[in-house]
Amino acid sequence: MTESQLNEVFLCPLPPVPGKKQNTIRMGKIHFETLAIRTQSERTHQKEHSVPLYLTSSFTFDSAEEGAGIFSEEIEGNLYSRFTNPNSDEFAEKLRLLEGAEAGVATATGMAGIYTVFAALLKTGDHIVASSAIFGSSKKVIDSILPNHGIEFTFVDVDDTEGWEKAIQPSTKLLFVETPSNPTLKIADLEFLSNLCVQNELIYVVDNCFATPYLQQPIQHGADLVLHSATKYIDGQGRVLGGAILGKKNYVDACYDFIRKTGASLSPFNAWVLSKSLETLAVRMDRHCSNAEKIYQYLENHEEVEKVIYPHSPSHPQYELAKKQMKFGGGLVGCELKGGKERGARFLNALKIHSLTANLGDTRSIATHPASTTHSKLSEAEQLEVGITPGFIRFSVGLEHADDLIEDIEQALKASK
Ligand SMILES: *Cc1c(COP(=O)(O)O)cnc(C)c1O
Repeated sequence: MTESQLNEVFLCPLPPVPGKKQNTIRMGKIHFETLAIRTQSERTHQKEHSVPLYLTSSFTFDSAEEGAGIFSEEIEGNLYSRFTNPNSDEFAEKLRLLEGAEAGVATATGMAGIYTVFAALLKTGDHIVASSAIFGSSKKVIDSILPNHGIEFTFVDVDDTEGWEKAIQPSTKLLFVETPSNPTLKIADLEFLSNLCVQNELIYVVDNCFATPYLQQPIQHGADLVLHSATKYIDGQGRVLGGAILGKKNYVDACYDFIRKTGASLSPFNAWVLSKSLETLAVRMDRHCSNAEKIYQYLENHEEVEKVIYPHSPSHPQYELAKKQMKFGGGLVGCELKGGKERGARFLNALKIHSLTANLGDTRSIATHPASTTHSKLSEAEQLEVGITPGFIRFSVGLEHADDLIEDIEQALKASK
């Protein structure tokens, strides 16, 4: 890379205001890793190498006139950290480039982003279609909060092509999908859904939390908006909550306006952590995926295991699609243990290295039992509908040595017999 190319990667003059002209860089030949590491705010007069933390609630004006100009948005500038903050804007800008999106805005959490999209883009009388295998809280927002605002919904099985077509009504405005899905790792056909959205003029929204832009870029497959819970792989070290909305400028602008008014903004500290985390996303994802490959292969050959789910396993019902859409299979592995719910609980209690916690996408490997934790708010029938059987265990495979993880699983399988 030449010197001039490198200079172009340093962007984000302070302050980049979402909804205003974005500073552009050439995506051209610059690779994902370089963009993730070399995109950063312009240096201050201190010439710092690492971006400083702008832990400030508000920003000053040089004059009453400048204040008035910034308030009326005639002059670009930071005003108040609920509106813009250099750290939050840098994080959103970096993720925007990595997803190949037109615009982006950061949110306090993944759920804040999901709720913002619905609240900013829908109104009473609208209808949405969503896949049934989605994150538990996303499902609750759709089926217990949106109806209070007169917004109706239909859930569809991710792989039910006809079901998607049938679910669309004249009042349908938006299609929401998560792929791979939580926790059963079903794959949505991003291009099929894109065509459906174009034909029916729907806003096409994809939760890309499990794959991250390193493995999958839904905008290239036609998505209008991509959502992230940055709490997961983007932080990747289980420290902070955060989220983002990336995609078409008119939709992101409407979301930014809603966030600015209602306060779903990302904290500068969390943004600073998340911006740094993006620098190591690619290397971390490589290891998450190679460790997960070893674990799923080990589990597939185990007599105590009924079934294993991993997107890049040839045994996955949507293997070909997963290969087409995702660079690697991801860091999550699902499996159904023999012996049902009690065996699942005994197995978790016997693990020595794996953490028992509700998070995922951490450096530390985590084992969860969705039936009793993340999806416990769903009825048993609802759980079964989305493929969560009583003995289903979800591994979020971390960055420890794969052999140690396999040994831990091996001893816990023996001890829980
Ligand atoms: C965790 C998660 C969310 C919600 O994100 P928070 O940061 O916890 O609010 C949304 N979607 C998926 C797929 C998730 O795993």
